[in-house]
Amino acid sequence: MLLTFCGAAGTVTGSCYWLQTGTTQFLVDCGMFQGSKTLKELNYGAFPFDPEQLDFVLLTHAHIDHSGLIPKLVKHGFRGQVFTTQGTLDLLTYMLPDSGYIQETEVARLNRRNQQRGRDPVTPIYTRADAKTALKSFSVVEYEEWHDIGEGVRARYWNAGHILGSASIEVEVDTGRNGSETARLLFSGDIGPEHKLFHPDPDAPSNWDYVFCEGTYGGRPRTDASPQSRRKILEQEVNTALSKGGNLLIPVFAIERTQELLLDLSYLFDEGRIPAVPIFLDSPLAIKATEVFAKNAESLEDTNGQKNLFRRSNIRFTETVDESKAIERVNGGSIIMAGSGMCEAGRIRHHLKQNLWRQNATVLLVGYQAPGTLGNLLSQGLSSVKIQGEDVKVKAAIREIDVYSGHADGEQLVSWLQDRLPIHSAVFLTHGEETGLSALQSDLQEAGMPADLIIIPSLDDTVDLLGGKSKVKFKPKPRRLSPEFVGGRDWHNELAEFSLRLRDLLDAAADDKSRNVILRRISRALEESENHR
Ligand SMILES: [Zn+2]
Repeated sequence: MLLTFCGAAGTVTGSCYWLQTGTTQFLVDCGMFQGSKTLKELNYGAFPFDPEQLDFVLLTHAHIDHSGLIPKLVKHGFRGQVFTTQGTLDLLTYMLPDSGYIQETEVARLNRRNQQRGRDPVTPIYTRADAKTALKSFSVVEYEEWHDIGEGVRARYWNAGHILGSASIEVEVDTGRNGSETARLLFSGDIGPEHKLFHPDPDAPSNWDYVFCEGTYGGRPRTDASPQSRRKILEQEVNTALSKGGNLLIPVFAIERTQELLLDLSYLFDEGRIPAVPIFLDSPLAIKATEVFAKNAESLEDTNGQKNLFRRSNIRFTETVDESKAIERVNGGSIIMAGSGMCEAGRIRHHLKQNLWRQNATVLLVGYQAPGTLGNLLSQGLSSVKIQGEDVKVKAAIREIDVYSGHADGEQLVSWLQDRLPIHSAVFLTHGEETGLSALQSDLQEAGMPADLIIIPSLDDTVDLLGGKSKVKFKPKPRRLSPEFVGGRDWHNELAEFSLRLRDLLDAAADDKSRNVILRRISRALEESENHR
């Protein structure tokens, strides 16, 4: 049985495994790469397999870094079924077309620039229409039930406690050896933390040949996230922000994070612990996702099955652009939640432009901020940032909390893996930054797992899964990117940071004369590197 790590290996995002057993070929996840420009370019390139030859896809959950390239797969000839849970399909019904819309608008903007520079136009990875077509290939599976998926392949989905519909997938494959021999594989997907709102703690059986485990928060402990302490932290942040008289901006991830915050804010309103100020939920996708949550309320924890959970007189859902623009007139005393969560796109950028320069405003970051994103630059305390081509001074307070993460922390990952023992052949650590994965590796060894059982693969590595005591054999195969270019920051990030530092340096200089001196020195350095070329 062959397996290629087509994503989620040595990278922060973009989960995709290709497997071949006998005449059957399939994928587990088909995610979009997110992060540096170098990594994102892979989304435009060819798949390292032939989509027409695939029989089916098993999908762990709705996040775009796990599902985002499915429309591209269908566009390039995939004719099989995508198997996933009802919750995941409900979310993707909105998320995939939204992703197609983002591709279309980003490419339109890029092509305007390309035209000015005399470059050829590019086409979007896929469009809204492609995404809607792809949704017709989805089949729903139940949790904890065996499904005969393809020839010699069975799968069972387990609650991963990460987001609505999320699953770890158990796969049993007939190896064709010794008559009836089978191999047991577990793909963790993203694993949720303990005490996660809405979901029970993650679950799956034990006794495996191979486990593929995410390591987003490998080696990193997080603040105790019990409901009481989580709400206490939110209460303090909201009250401090509102006492300054300005607006509180919360960049949100549309799925789950938005609904968790709405639920906790509602709780704090009811208890009278924060003033009942207006909340604007200014994200069409988050509004749709909130409706999906309300629809699924009966199957979620902490909701008492209430369908009108998020409907309160002071929570306003602003769907149209006009409604969104009207928020501009609110100079203070309100909470504005808008996407995207890392401030890379969406309406939050507009609100940041309106509020960042105000001393009485507050920005509260509630999730992971990938290196190189605007959210990451804000969290580093830069004094000015570029938004839609404009320099904006940062006078607002920038706050960060980690109690709303959808991921298990380092310790919880170790105990999730310990609960899966015995694991006979290999544990592959994937889907994390290099430091996180190696920290998880040493934590596992400290907890008693043999060192030779744990493998950290690189992007596009292919392994022969032999089973039993013979572990795995790496096979040489071409790579799309050499390992040192995968994940983290690239030269585009370095350039953006350099220009911001230069801007700050020029702003801080005493007068125009000293600004000219700085610029002349930099020009000399440029000339020198031109001469060295
Ligand atoms: Zn996820």
